[in-house]
Amino acid sequence: MSDSADRYQSLLEEARNHRHEGEKPPKDVTLIAVSKTFSIKEIEPVIAAGCRVFGENRVQEAQSKWPELRSRYPDLELHLIGPLQSNKAGDAVALFDVIQTIDREKIARSIAREMKVQERVPRLFVQVNTGSEPQKAGVDPDKTLEFVEWCQKDVGLSIEGLMAIPPFEENPGPHFALLRKLGREAGLPGLSMGMSGDYLTAVEFGATHIRVGSAIFGSR
Ligand SMILES: *Cc1c(COP(=O)(O)O)cnc(C)c1O
Repeated sequence: MSDSADRYQSLLEEARNHRHEGEKPPKDVTLIAVSKTFSIKEIEPVIAAGCRVFGENRVQEAQSKWPELRSRYPDLELHLIGPLQSNKAGDAVALFDVIQTIDREKIARSIAREMKVQERVPRLFVQVNTGSEPQKAGVDPDKTLEFVEWCQKDVGLSIEGLMAIPPFEENPGPHFALLRKLGREAGLPGLSMGMSGDYLTAVEFGATHIRVGSAIFGSR
């Protein structure tokens, strides 16, 4: 078995069995294998190891790999975890099962329109900029509840959860706690948080989805 397949399996087991301060391990945390920059050949061993959920951060790159992989493995689930331009909304709705990066009105409207035209219903997450970093995508924490409600009521989108990428150099715990709090307030079950460096911390804070790339595939 390849190294990446081994790493996928042990990481999945570790995340599912992780206990925090005597709490029960999470019943169900979805491990999203982030395959950006990796080729079909590098992705296939991880599929063979049982992984069915993958994440890509660019629409165009995903289009070059996933139609072929999907034709061979029809039960794959593909998540868009990178920023989305509204002129790519149609491509995103056509290709992805889950779009995690809804973060502004224009994108929400474009996605809603494409869902209607294509009669496809991807699952949706709202991205939150928990560190309020000026250059980073995501809704400001202060605006999150209002934005989620607007997506639901004004645009008719069903929102499954919240997603965040904490500031690079900060302790992620408080950011995960903030995302969990906002998720509870908004009444949303999904929490997509935690990457290669902090997925166990994210599990402790109740992540339902962790997004792990380099710890599975190796460095990019
Ligand atoms: C690349 C990426 C990841 C995975 O990062 P690793 O550190 O390689 O695990 C997770 N989330 C997003 C949004 C990413 O762009």
